[in-house]
Amino acid sequence: MNNNALIHSLPVQPRHFDMFIDGQWTQGSATRSVTRRSPAHDVPVSVYPSGSGVDVDQAVVAARQAFEQSTWARGSGEARSTVLLKTAELIRQHCEELALCETLETGKPIAQSRGEVLASAGIWEYAAGQARALHGDAFNNLGEDMLGLVTREPVGVVGLITPWNFPFFILAERLPFILASGCTVVVKPSELTSGTTLILAGLLQQAGLPDGVVNVLTGPGSVVGQAISEHADIDMVSFTGSTEVGRLTLAAAAGNMKKTGLELGGKNPQVVFADADLDAAADAIVFGICFNAGQCCVSGSRLLVHRSVEQRLTAKILELLARVRIGDPLDEATQVGSITELRQMERILGYVSQGRSEGAQLMTGGYRIESPQGMYLQPAVFSQVTPQMTLAREEIFGPVLTITAFDDFDQAMQIANDTPFGLAASVWSRDLNTSLRAMRQIKAGRVWVNTTIAGGPELPSGGFKQSGIGRETGRYGVEEYTEVKSVHLQLGERARWVQD
Ligand code: NAD
Repeated sequence: MNNNALIHSLPVQPRHFDMFIDGQWTQGSATRSVTRRSPAHDVPVSVYPSGSGVDVDQAVVAARQAFEQSTWARGSGEARSTVLLKTAELIRQHCEELALCETLETGKPIAQSRGEVLASAGIWEYAAGQARALHGDAFNNLGEDMLGLVTREPVGVVGLITPWNFPFFILAERLPFILASGCTVVVKPSELTSGTTLILAGLLQQAGLPDGVVNVLTGPGSVVGQAISEHADIDMVSFTGSTEVGRLTLAAAAGNMKKTGLELGGKNPQVVFADADLDAAADAIVFGICFNAGQCCVSGSRLLVHRSVEQRLTAKILELLARVRIGDPLDEATQVGSITELRQMERILGYVSQGRSEGAQLMTGGYRIESPQGMYLQPAVFSQVTPQMTLAREEIFGPVLTITAFDDFDQAMQIANDTPFGLAASVWSRDLNTSLRAMRQIKAGRVWVNTTIAGGPELPSGGFKQSGIGRETGRYGVEEYTEVKSVHLQLGERARWVQD
């Protein structure tokens, strides 16, 4: 366990939050509150109101009114851009406060939280540019009497439901793009990690966002999230979370046929060919499985490796894994912090024992590290994993790597695509032909070649198959929250239908 000096200390009292509806801080209809304890330190850190459907109704009325009556939707992209840029500046100014809250609620290392907050500010800046870049199309080829225009309009009121693994970063990949398009929003963060979303609501207000444009509700997903997905006056729901709950959201959205954006789970292959740089691949594989303690939708959890280099690569991975610094997330040197909740810890350990009973060979880890507080897990590596084993098929959402050997290119592609998911993949080869052929054949929304979990907001992210519907970030990320309108303009006299 890692054990160095801390810059931040634990709070003496938990921070009490209100919900944010129509520009007001309120307990809403809540008669109960939810206390979030730091998973790493087991002390209370945040207290939230437990909202209900009544609060959803109120927030939707505010968002609808702001959409129809405020200047947000109808104003210029420049005006929206100014607010987004100011928000980015405020995020940078409040970086330590946001990072600390994120670490206390998620258990992730403080250095990582800080990195996520600063990267999020960058995404807000990028989205500010998109607010001004958003445009339609023109058709000047419809003949002498006709001009065609395609305009984009904001969808309307968007319900935004987010998970607990990257609460602030995932919010940044969605909220500024929704705002850039001119939509108004009802946000429901995970009940485990609502703090940074509420802090952000205050920053948005400070940045000049009109009341009602962003509303933040807290409470259980099965109550508040479900009410958002079902709500007849919400035009679109953007959901990020598990495939299982995503399916519920999709069914609930069918009521008024909401537009739906889903960013769901993954079971992402790391495909290593015989000619790959094995040192570079080993380091990235260790990073990919340990980052955020494996609680990462794009975690490269399935290593598919050419049989001729399997042993050499495995040895390198085990050597690097032994040097990863696991421990108190408030320690600046920590690389892997606590698992975010006990239920998740038990789920991961359940998969480890299932892997053993199905005949996979546990090479290292897979146990809870003894410590007075916190839920620290020694990352696990399983070899001899067949594509049929549960370990290779289900999203574990923890630091568990499976190793499966392949004999040729076609078999590698067949195993890589043998999954209901299609979120991301990494390909390792020094040969451009091999890596580009693999990139083309893998069914996933994101492919990394000779790297993993890299990139910024310029490119879109999202999933094939059951990993989701729609795309976030890039210009696609703002277009996602628009409707397209076709306009035909008659120039001069229209030919009469009824003859004289
Ligand atoms: P989750 O599905 O349990 O919860 C996600 C959100 O949905 C939370 O805010 C929760 O309160 C809410 N919710 C719960 N029940 C609901 C219901 N009936 N109706 C509407 N909302 C409801 O997911 P999680 O455990 O918070 O996050 C982990 C999952 O998220 C993993 O599967 C991971 O792969 C996925 N994820 C995907 C991406 C991506 O971009 N594809 C990113 C991060 C996480």
